[in-house]
Amino acid sequence: MTTQGLVILNTGHGKGKSTAAFGQALRAAGQGLKVCIIQFIKGQAKTGEALALASAFPGRIELHLAGTGFTWQQERETVKAAALAGWELAKEKILSDAYDLLVLDELTYLIGFAIVPEEEIISLLRKRPERLHLVITGRDASPRLIDSADLVTEMCAIKHPFAKGLKAQKGIEF
Ligand code: ATP
Ligand code: MG
Repeated sequence: MTTQGLVILNTGHGKGKSTAAFGQALRAAGQGLKVCIIQFIKGQAKTGEALALASAFPGRIELHLAGTGFTWQQERETVKAAALAGWELAKEKILSDAYDLLVLDELTYLIGFAIVPEEEIISLLRKRPERLHLVITGRDASPRLIDSADLVTEMCAIKHPFAKGLKAQKGIEF
């Protein structure tokens, strides 16, 4: 039976886009699928997910950081260069046909900040190997990206502790 790869998109302003993508990666890896995750924009090295993958799944789920730490504290050009390098890696991984599931975490910002032309991203999605599932996350997905996806979920923020001044907590936000 041939697998029909899906483009799965988690967008919206509520919490849970990236954690759902990591959950999907975990589920896939548990079923023996070959998984690779590329995290754009943020790229902190010691997140809970990075630590968990390194200790619990050494060599099983590949994780690449294509960010520069916490976003706009960095020079825009540095952020852009890291994201572009990540995009080159994503292209290579997608076309390699070596994976069953690839997570492109925070990819929507590459379109939103005009780091990579939307057209280039959409056309690569179309050219990917048929069996490859892609999971894309990020706020404000563009209409064309939504159109190209098979499964789109909008995380809607009903309440977030940030609004009452609570800072990011270890194990919950990172
Ligand atoms: P997570 O990684 O926890 O699944 P996410 O991927 O949905 O979150 P992002 O837009 O990538 O969310 O932002 C990541 C950070 O922003 C997280 O620390 C998250 O808790 C926080 N965040 C998400 N939604 C909101 C919101 N509505 N208001 C304030 N902060 C938020
Ligand atoms: Mg996220």
